[in-house]
Amino acid sequence: MTERPEIRTSYALPANLGGTLLRGTRCRCPRCGDGKLFHAWLKPRDHCPVCALDISGQRADDFPAYIAMFVTGHLLAPIIIALVLDFDLSAGALVAIILPLAVAMMIALLQPAKGAVIALQWWNGMHGFRRERAQDDDEGVLK
Ligand SMILES: [Zn+2]
Repeated sequence: MTERPEIRTSYALPANLGGTLLRGTRCRCPRCGDGKLFHAWLKPRDHCPVCALDISGQRADDFPAYIAMFVTGHLLAPIIIALVLDFDLSAGALVAIILPLAVAMMIALLQPAKGAVIALQWWNGMHGFRRERAQDDDEGVLK
């Protein structure tokens, strides 16, 4: 039988929304920054293994997919334009280059986007998350 690691009760809360989103993008717990947010590719854990934050109430829904599509489209647009204008490629060659690239970028962006959406919900205290902020007098360490 494996022993569960002890739940930490003291951790540094993120100082601002940017730090929170960075933790989420790294697929880490937005509250403690150490616990892994996902137990499978897009399946978040019910609780953070480090600080026991209840993640089960998150409602990311389709928003991470929209973010991944938006970013992929904006990153690929100049590449597509350059391929079409600067190289004499057939339509089949363009599809052979662009389609796998777009699929790979979407797959790579989905998990960080979902982590960022969960972190955004935690920062704003949405969907059952309790709104928590670092205290100024003890350098952001919640006791
Ligand atoms: Zn945590």
